[in-house]
Amino acid sequence: RGRQYNGVNPEGRDGFVRFSELVQYFLKLEGTSGRNALVEILAELFMRTPTEDVPPTAYLLQGRLAPYFEPVEIGLGNNYVADAIARAFGSDRATVLERFDRLGDIGEAAAEIAAESGSSPAPTRAPPVREIFDRLLEIARTTGAGSVGAKVETFASLLGELDPLSCNYLCRVPLGRMRLGVGDPTVLDAFSFAKVGDRSLRKGLERAYSETSDLGLVGKTLWEGGIEAVECLGVRVGNPVRPALAERLPSAEAIIAKLGRAAVERKYDGFRCQVHKAGDDIKIFSRNLEDMTASFPEIAEGARRQVVAGTAIFEGEALAYNPLSDEYLPFQQTVRRRRKHGVEETAAELPLRLFAFDILYADGERVMERSYTERHAILEHAVEAGDTILISEAHTTGEPEELLEVFNDSIQHGLEGIVAKRPDSPYQAGARNYNWVKLKRAQAGNLQDTVDCVIVGYIYGRGRRTAFGVGALLVATYDPERDVFPTVTKIGTGLSDVQWREVRERCEPYVSERKPARVESNIEPSVWVEPQVVIEMLADEITRSPVHPTGADEGGQGYALRFPRLVSFRQEDKKPEDVTTVTEIVELYNQQGARTTP
Ligand code: ATP
Repeated sequence: RGRQYNGVNPEGRDGFVRFSELVQYFLKLEGTSGRNALVEILAELFMRTPTEDVPPTAYLLQGRLAPYFEPVEIGLGNNYVADAIARAFGSDRATVLERFDRLGDIGEAAAEIAAESGSSPAPTRAPPVREIFDRLLEIARTTGAGSVGAKVETFASLLGELDPLSCNYLCRVPLGRMRLGVGDPTVLDAFSFAKVGDRSLRKGLERAYSETSDLGLVGKTLWEGGIEAVECLGVRVGNPVRPALAERLPSAEAIIAKLGRAAVERKYDGFRCQVHKAGDDIKIFSRNLEDMTASFPEIAEGARRQVVAGTAIFEGEALAYNPLSDEYLPFQQTVRRRRKHGVEETAAELPLRLFAFDILYADGERVMERSYTERHAILEHAVEAGDTILISEAHTTGEPEELLEVFNDSIQHGLEGIVAKRPDSPYQAGARNYNWVKLKRAQAGNLQDTVDCVIVGYIYGRGRRTAFGVGALLVATYDPERDVFPTVTKIGTGLSDVQWREVRERCEPYVSERKPARVESNIEPSVWVEPQVVIEMLADEITRSPVHPTGADEGGQGYALRFPRLVSFRQEDKKPEDVTTVTEIVELYNQQGARTTP
């Protein structure tokens, strides 16, 4: 560490990294229980990685062949991967699957069978990462009739060229089981360490990543042109932008005190959509940057008809709305539209409207730095009046009473509350700050809002609940700065039998033998779970507590949720890194008792 590196690997070999070498790093990452060690291992890997290999390495670390938002899939499930293993090592599908059942992991089954077959190639011929990556991409791009046979064949030939450990990791790619426990901010830190020996580039890298959502692109740009080039990367049509998020304040008075004047909009209770338009080409991304275009055909069509700007990136909330009665349908109805099947029928039965509330890019120009007020005007110009896309109305005021009027009106329309916006604020990708402040209807608990957490373990219970294998859940918040998940509470009561069963089923694929490296906990649960399953919770209050590391000070006093209750599973629209942050928990703690809104 501390060694300077400028694109030439420290051993003096400047060619490439072999796939067999890459998997040695994967193995190290998996065996690590601390977050700093993850950064060190990755920095060492990236110090050796030449420019062209940076994107393949960054994507493979996430078990992918492209950035998250590009739906590039290999298209081989368990059975076909088993066929490929059988083909590569002279076995048959049944034998491979039997081994898979016994070991519980197809990668391990592949490694065992490869080792037994004794056909391991000489290490000197081991293929470079780049080559393996290109051939995997080729498999993903093979489509059409009879393509499965060709995919299996290419995958088998790849396996035949690799050592057993490489076979293990290779099989995880098509099955989406890479799970090295590495978060995006950790990769960005590693980029920075690899280039300058410390974290100083993180901020610039993070901004570029928030605007392009492509780790490979950010890395490659850094390798090619340094941080100056990265600073020139910005939003582009087709790449989802990390959404700006809202803070909370407990009352109308507090909001006006903080913002002075505020543009108050209804808070629509639907799906957040980010619409990208280039001519007739429309893409719609979700809150967690997934491509949802196929699920919302009427909104894509509406964008084609109503958006007059040639190119645009704008945001809104999609929900079912009846313009005649001015009624919004409840979220439970809208949510049916998340299903991927029968899209056309449900779209006809329950057409969605988009309430557009912000614009980031219009007619080839980035407008994120313009004020909210200017952006709203640009939005009104970019979108023509019509019945699919409506512009969210804003009422600007400096009076708490007027803000409350909009709030009450919104509640009467069956909505959740309001979002108050600072009129002179820019659009900051991925930032949660007081540019936007949400005020919601009071909830059943005493806390002003629900909290999203991620499950990191469970503790076996006694008595009746053992039937479901879980007695209490250990859950965590997120610290985006350090890219770690510190625990914040245990949920032990209040879950129905059905919920327990669902918890068990959802956590099952993520059970981990050891504490996942990014989890911080003083409690040792019966079973660790990789942070993947996101739940929404209500709690009575937040207390200071030495038990949980969320927000812990030097004396070890952290924060804990008291009497937490499960509200819903949020895995579909939130990634683990989207859960409530440590800072938000501390703010909620400080706001307790200040609530005055009905
Ligand atoms: P978050 O998205 O902030 O993590 P969350 O999923 O719990 O939190 P809420 O607390 O309900 O969501 O509020 C924020 C969300 O409200 C935004 O992400 C957006 O989807 C939605 N929203 C609805 N109406 C508006 C509006 N007029 N302006 C901005 N956002 C709005």
